Order: sequence, then C-alpha cells, then structure tokens
Amino acid sequence: MSDEFFSARDIAMHFGGIRAVESVSFDVQRGEVFSIIGPNGAGKTTIFNMISRIYTPTAGTLNFDGQDITRIAPHRIARLGIARTFQNIELFTNATLLQNLLIGRHSHSTAPLLSQLAFLPSVRRAEVDHRKRAEEVIEFLDLQRYRDQLIANLPYGVRKVVELGRALCSQPKLLLLDEPSSGLNTEETEGMAFWIEDIKKDLSVTIIMVEHDMKLVAAVSDRVMALNQGRILAMGSSAEVQGHPDVVRAYIGGE
Ligand code: ATP
Repeated sequence: MSDEFFSARDIAMHFGGIRAVESVSFDVQRGEVFSIIGPNGAGKTTIFNMISRIYTPTAGTLNFDGQDITRIAPHRIARLGIARTFQNIELFTNATLLQNLLIGRHSHSTAPLLSQLAFLPSVRRAEVDHRKRAEEVIEFLDLQRYRDQLIANLPYGVRKVVELGRALCSQPKLLLLDEPSSGLNTEETEGMAFWIEDIKKDLSVTIIMVEHDMKLVAAVSDRVMALNQGRILAMGSSAEVQGHPDVVRAYIGGE
C-alpha cells in the first residue's frame, strides 16, 4: 500500500495580486489526522477550497489515492471519496436530521434527476443502501434521539455533530474538517475530539483539519502544519509546531 495517500506539491493560489497560498507542499498518510493551523488570513480555507476543487490552484499539483486531482471536475471529488464539513454549518434547518443526511448524499445537480429515475431498480437499491448508511451514521454518532427532529430545533452543538454525519454518509476515505470547534463551548469541543478519534479509529477515515483551538489540535492530531501569509512556517508534532519560535511570533504578531 502506498504511503502517499494524499499529497500537495508546490501549490499556490493567487487572487489578482493577493498570494493567498504560495509554494505549499505536504503529504498526508493514510489513517492520520493532519491539522492545519495559522492566524487569520494564513491560507487555510484556501487550501481546503483547492482540495475540494472550489478553486483550481494557480500552480502545483494535488494527488489523492494514486490520482492527480488538481483539475478534475468538482463533482468527482465526492465520488473519489473526499468529503468536507464547513465552518458555518450547511444544513437544511426546516428538514429533520434524517432528511438532512439523505439529502446530503446527492449533489444539487443530480438530486432532481435521481428522483425522476426512482422507478429503476438500481436507483431504488442505491436509495435503500443510502438510507441504511444514514441510519448507521445516526447510531454511530449517538444521534438517535434527534433523528426525526427539525434541525432548527436542535442545539448548535448537536448540529455540529450532524454536520459531521452528513459528511460521513458518503463513506469518505478523506474527511476535510473546517474548524470543527467553532461555536462550541469547552465541553462540546471535548466531545468533538472524541468523535474525531472515533471516526479515525473505527471508520478508518483519514482527516485533514483546519482548527484554531489548540487544545483540540493537540488532542487529536498526528501531525500539524502551521501556515502564515500563505507559506509554511513549521510542520511536525503538535508540541513541536506550537513551540516553534516562528509560529509563536506569527501568533503574537497576528493579534
Ligand atoms: P481564517 O482563519 O480567517 O478563516 P484562513 O487561514 O482560512 O483565515 P483564507 O480564507 O484562506 O485564510 O485567506 C487567505 C488570504 O486569501 C486572505 O488574504 C484572503 O483575503 C484571501 N482570499 C481568500 N479567498 C479569496 C478570494 N476568493 N478572492 C480574493 N482574496 C481571497
């Protein structure tokens, strides 16, 4: 099995004169939690947007599971096994938790088409499989008691876990977590750390996480990369990176 599960080589993203990301290279090994930290504007979200193909890198290459994904169509990303959560939760508030997990499966473009083709046995079988998967995810994340409640009626901390569930329904090999602790209190953030550990260990999902909460980063990360102004400052264990003089300086300077 290749160790090079995911790699970014010299990736850059320029917006006119703004160099949001410049010459960034990193590898993520299968099964690890790899965290990206850095002050505001460091380029973390831009990297996620390149991996999920919202942006096409100005330069460099991205490889995932033996395939060059730098320029593939965005809708193929999910099918290849990459899922993502968003810092600002993207759930349908007037639908139930279960409905959100079922909707989450289809890209916006394929959902209407599939509903018209629902009479086909293969489409029906796929729907049944997905429903089973959604129920398994609900059980895995201990969300049974909220299953039929509207998202609008759920506490924010629970919605963050549902957002995780939505991403897990596609059975990803690589999960991109965008600030999983944002908006959570200390206790909820500790709970999130347990879910991340469980997803890694029990579901064998590799995780790249963008996160500001250093306690969460230290608790779950195998390796950490610190960015500042679009460039890598340090890479290594959480303790090495957080103690690195350039990282300390960037955070103090960024306040
Ligand atoms: P935060 O922690 O605040 O979310 P970040 O590390 O995720 O910050 P990015 O959102 O990646 O930082 O932004 C990096 C830089 O790129 C910033 O200067 C930002 O203003 C700029 N940038 C990001 N997206 C665009 C865009 N679509 N057009 C122009 N500039 C952009």
